[in-house]
Amino acid sequence: MSKERHVETSAITAGRPEISEDASLNPPIVLSATFHAGGPIGYGRYGNQTWNALETAISELEGGQTLSFSSGMAAISAVFSILPIGAPVVASNQGYSGVMTLLNSFQESGRLEVRFVDVVNTEEVISAMKGAALIWLESPTNPCLDVADLPTLISAAKKLGIGVGVDNTFATPLVQNPLAMGADIVMHSVTKFLSGHSDVLMGSLSTNDPALYKRLHDSRSFNGSIPGPFESWLALRGLRTFPLRFNKAQENAQRLVEKLKAHPQVSRVRYPGFGAVISFEVDGTADETQKVCESSHLIAHATSLGGIESLWERRRRWPMESPTVPEQLIRLSVGCEHVDDIWSDIESALSSI
Ligand SMILES: *Cc1c(COP(=O)(O)O)cnc(C)c1O
Repeated sequence: MSKERHVETSAITAGRPEISEDASLNPPIVLSATFHAGGPIGYGRYGNQTWNALETAISELEGGQTLSFSSGMAAISAVFSILPIGAPVVASNQGYSGVMTLLNSFQESGRLEVRFVDVVNTEEVISAMKGAALIWLESPTNPCLDVADLPTLISAAKKLGIGVGVDNTFATPLVQNPLAMGADIVMHSVTKFLSGHSDVLMGSLSTNDPALYKRLHDSRSFNGSIPGPFESWLALRGLRTFPLRFNKAQENAQRLVEKLKAHPQVSRVRYPGFGAVISFEVDGTADETQKVCESSHLIAHATSLGGIESLWERRRRWPMESPTVPEQLIRLSVGCEHVDDIWSDIESALSSI
């Protein structure tokens, strides 16, 4: 029914209870570990009506059928959990640090054979695909904002019969729809833009393949990586304003990119042209960069991204961050505050060194 609706509309209309007299506009928070026998849910580890409402909404934005998880990492772990022992997987050599850490541990234990590639180098990625079981793509990457040629890589993978998963956390369905490009799975850290208020951790997987959906559903049910009903409700509440927030934050980011590029203490600005995350390098040492992050008043010095409030951090403050990420790189998640206020905070923080 709502397939033809715009993302801006679906975000508001999807996942509402059916209309009848005195039906609530919003789904209730269903706090129940078990359900009267005979229905499709049965037990609280297999399903929940509040999860269903959120999953229906994400399905309308991304296409396919959606499963929600307790975090983005739980969603990604479910994908890897269904691969056979030792399966070859192609992944970015510079993706989200949590995924890198997980894949490195799988590599060491022999759980998976991981082929790390530079996702910007399309030829390198395609040659690594031969004989692989899955390619896991993140585009743009976190935190360096490298963009992969998704249409080319996805069609190459499909020709070779390889499964494709895409982490769409940074681009969001407002920018790209990996399932429409032929990907098998699209993943979100719902924690970020979709929920958007830095008050909930959740993840999602969407797929058009019913057999794959069933295997991922089983993985969630039996590994127990389920979300809470309250978190699902909060995420759906946040999702209602996701297009408004994303569009505003993106507009702010585009203006800040121009100002950062012209700032004498900024040596490099990475921005793919869309989205609300900017990674820039300070012309200074790691300690000076750290000082900049600690000198803001409006922008919170914290990790994460995609919230309504601006946040930043020096990524290499985390020992698990890839050593290929520059020491002077600050990842700025641009929020929805007035852009002039964000800029004066950045300017004054930069002047601290
Ligand atoms: C944050 C993030 C994740 C992990 O999600 P959590 O909800 O923190 O578990 C995965 N991928 C990307 C690109 C992220 O930014």
